[in-house]
Amino acid sequence: MDTIPFVVPSEHGIKARFRQLIFGVHPRCPRCQRQNVRVVANRYHCRSCRRKFSLTSGTWLAGMKLSWTQLWILLWCFCHRYQPRQAASLAEVTLKSARTWYGRFRTQLPERGRVLRLHVVADEGYFGKRRTGNQRIVAGALEPRSKEVRLRMIPDTEQDSIERFLWDHVSLQTMVWTDAHKSYGDIAWMGYGHDWEIHERGQFGKTSPIERVWSFSKWLTRRMYHHVWAENLPHSLREIEWRFSAPGTFASPLTLAEILLRPVPRSD
Ligand SMILES: [Zn+2]
Repeated sequence: MDTIPFVVPSEHGIKARFRQLIFGVHPRCPRCQRQNVRVVANRYHCRSCRRKFSLTSGTWLAGMKLSWTQLWILLWCFCHRYQPRQAASLAEVTLKSARTWYGRFRTQLPERGRVLRLHVVADEGYFGKRRTGNQRIVAGALEPRSKEVRLRMIPDTEQDSIERFLWDHVSLQTMVWTDAHKSYGDIAWMGYGHDWEIHERGQFGKTSPIERVWSFSKWLTRRMYHHVWAENLPHSLREIEWRFSAPGTFASPLTLAEILLRPVPRSD
């Protein structure tokens, strides 16, 4: 058994913090949203619509079988990029359960919505091994000033796929830096500023920031998950965006839980 490398608050203390996160100052009925609520032994009764509910009713934690302490430890491990196996051992849950909870944390991360602007670097990356049939192409766009990054799976590197990705995630009139890939050839016609570097000639000055996104993705995947299956890739990309663009979200179980339970995108 591994020893826990951090101080875990009491079960009661953790639950109180989550109560604050979920309800704010007063409990709110998940059905009618009113705060006319009576509390009886950990259950809540809505006086307006007569519904009975618990703290987690109406959240993605509903029906949770873990103790608050176990949830806290899993969140801590996820924040600190522990592998599911280490998290399972520390939280004393099965490996399958640790993996399931990691998956939940990932899927509850909200979309980082806003479009990128002013100055963006775009590129394509390859995730997974071709030899196992697990390889996928990912389009990436990075706003170097803010470190905001957008990553999406694309079917191919044809002009249509690249242009659609930029259209969805990068505001027009943005200066877009790319490599010399021909699929970017017409983006000036779409209304973007466009300049490029020829990597074969050793030109990397403007486009190198996105290389850091690709190396970060590889490092994170190898460290936490060993590899990512194609069907999980969209949520893994979301996780990478968050960890790259807003690392402060993962400072503690509470900062993460705040995003997972009251999704308001933040940037650091
Ligand atoms: Zn109600």
